[in-house]
Amino acid sequence: MADHNNRYETIVRKLRDHGHKLTPQRLAIVKILAKSEGHPSVENIYDQIKIDFPTMSLATVYRNILLIKSIGEVLELGFPDGSNRYDGNRPYPHPHVICIKCKKIVDPELDSLDDMREEVAAETGFKILNHRLDFFGICSSCGANKG
Ligand code: ZN
Ligand code: MN
Repeated sequence: MADHNNRYETIVRKLRDHGHKLTPQRLAIVKILAKSEGHPSVENIYDQIKIDFPTMSLATVYRNILLIKSIGEVLELGFPDGSNRYDGNRPYPHPHVICIKCKKIVDPELDSLDDMREEVAAETGFKILNHRLDFFGICSSCGANKG
């Protein structure tokens, strides 16, 4: 499990280093991103933010997430239906396992990924800069409820 306090401090420091203002609203978004294990959507984050900042708009939440993404401190998982999800714990490329029923997304702990990256580079001659690896399936809670 990632260290949430460390992630919060790291993101805040990097925002400051880049000259961005540290408003209470912005810090609240950083806090949610840093502690969320569930790969929240912008709407999920907005729902949590609204409790403390009822006047904040969805667009403002989105702008702040894009800002944090621009400094490389949140990973955006885009999907064709537009339901993007965000990982503030692990802002670097890593594999995901996605439930096609409830849309739960988890981070599997895999040792084999470094080997795979080297194998892909050796096989193709590419210098690998980034990767995206998603496994789709049905999670145990959804499987258990089936008929
Ligand atoms: Zn599920
Ligand atoms: Mn993740």
